[in-house]
Amino acid sequence: SVDVNALADEYMRLAYHGLRAKDKSFNATLEKDFDPEVIVARVMPQDFGRVLLNIFNNAFYAVSQRARQEGEEYRPTVWLSSKLENGTVEIRIKDNGTGIPDEVRAKIFEPFYTTKPTGQGTGLGLSLSYDIIHNGHGGRLEVESEQGSHTLFIVRIPVN
Ligand code: ADP
Ligand code: MG
Repeated sequence: SVDVNALADEYMRLAYHGLRAKDKSFNATLEKDFDPEVIVARVMPQDFGRVLLNIFNNAFYAVSQRARQEGEEYRPTVWLSSKLENGTVEIRIKDNGTGIPDEVRAKIFEPFYTTKPTGQGTGLGLSLSYDIIHNGHGGRLEVESEQGSHTLFIVRIPVN
């Protein structure tokens, strides 16, 4: 059993500082809302950590891309929340980055599908994440997005 709130918090900061190490001028607001009831869940920490890191890396990439296109008034923000409900741990990771066009969203869980320039993405992150959550944890990985507005990934893991 793993402290999912602490794990998610750690991977959020890891992704943020990873991007800032490459782009010192990049700044984002990190918003967190943890349910104290979500203390432990039966997850494989290494696999689950890869899922979180991949989703956060994508989120910070998306806000950094949008920051290049927008003016000073744009505030790159990534939200992380956790909730325990009906025996399910739900982790939501939202960003106000580029968003995902419908035709892209249909393919994001396919292996090797990427819209990133060569060297910036393998396209394996979300297909691996989907496999880890669905097959490795009996959970669900879902996405909601609006181009030019936001993207939300929802991870659901049964507690028992
Ligand atoms: P990679 O990051 O290597 O491209 P992923 O499997 O992690 O591969 O993601 C696949 C694609 O899904 C990305 O190339 C991008 O087009 C899209 N995507 C994933 N997360 C986001 C996000 N938060 N905002 C916008 N697009 C995203
Ligand atoms: Mg990725």
